[in-house]
Amino acid sequence: MSTPSPRQAAFLDEMGLGPVWVRRELPPAAAPSGMPAAHEAAAVPPAADAPVAAVAPAPSAPVPVASAPGAPPAVNEAVPAMRGPAPAARSSEAEDLAAAFSAHDAIATLHASAPPAREIAAMSWAELREAVSGCVKCGLCNGRTKTVFGVGDEKARWLFIGEGPGFNEDKQGEPFVGNAGKLLDNMLLAMGLRRGENTFVANIVKCRPTGPDGKDRPPSDEEAAACMPYLQRQIALIQPTVIVALGKTAAVRLLGLDPATPVAKLRGTVHEYAGRPLVVTYHPAYLLRSLTEKKKAWADLCLAMSTHASA
Ligand code: URA
Ligand code: SF4
Repeated sequence: MSTPSPRQAAFLDEMGLGPVWVRRELPPAAAPSGMPAAHEAAAVPPAADAPVAAVAPAPSAPVPVASAPGAPPAVNEAVPAMRGPAPAARSSEAEDLAAAFSAHDAIATLHASAPPAREIAAMSWAELREAVSGCVKCGLCNGRTKTVFGVGDEKARWLFIGEGPGFNEDKQGEPFVGNAGKLLDNMLLAMGLRRGENTFVANIVKCRPTGPDGKDRPPSDEEAAACMPYLQRQIALIQPTVIVALGKTAAVRLLGLDPATPVAKLRGTVHEYAGRPLVVTYHPAYLLRSLTEKKKAWADLCLAMSTHASA
């Protein structure tokens, strides 16, 4: 991208990026070398109660398989429990049959709402939407108002991935509709993009994670792993040219890194996910609280744009 147009400059202004900064970052190609050092602010979005497991699941395999970490424990646990009474308790063939049928129905019902990863990997958009809307693969289904599938162009060249729905997203069923969403829209506009046009916006988990205090929290290892096959299928269907991970949760979950890895360590490098370039930047909610980081976020977006241009 060359000198921002007046329109883009207005959005850059909105992001808190003054002309001084714009001039400094002018050549996008230079962005990678201008990357700030890793000592800068580490934390990303919300809470401090991020999962502390040493190693993230490794969901970055291009095609999920049944043995993937995202395999739904609910199904595995529930099935044996539904196999009916123990053999000794069966008094007739009819009872056996009845038990078998009811187990089959129960399994079929479960499958309808919690398909295994290999089935998800073959779904159409319509099937995927339906599977997500009724999904009970992890505990987040209990507290949700609406699932948040993601929004945008099914053939988008740009895919932006956040962490998970918050209060507003859970109510409306659309990602990034709160204040962080407004900033994201401005970031898109500064890049010459618009939500829904050549962009798709999704999250690591499709249901809102909340803590005991009712506040938003990052998804747990289990929740992220359970939901990952949906995102993997979305990526396979979209085939984006560039993926932008918004914040730490998206970055570490996609790249299979230690959840404690700071965003500052991941910026400035073009990573790879499912054979596609992935650029990491700060989460818009973090940027709302940390105005000085916005210029770094713009450098990240410039890196993403130059990556897109050369792809
Ligand atoms: N934060 C996210 O990571 N995703 C949303 O959809 C909203 C806020
Ligand atoms: Fe299903 Fe994902 Fe919602 Fe968990 S967060 S219930 S895996 S859609």
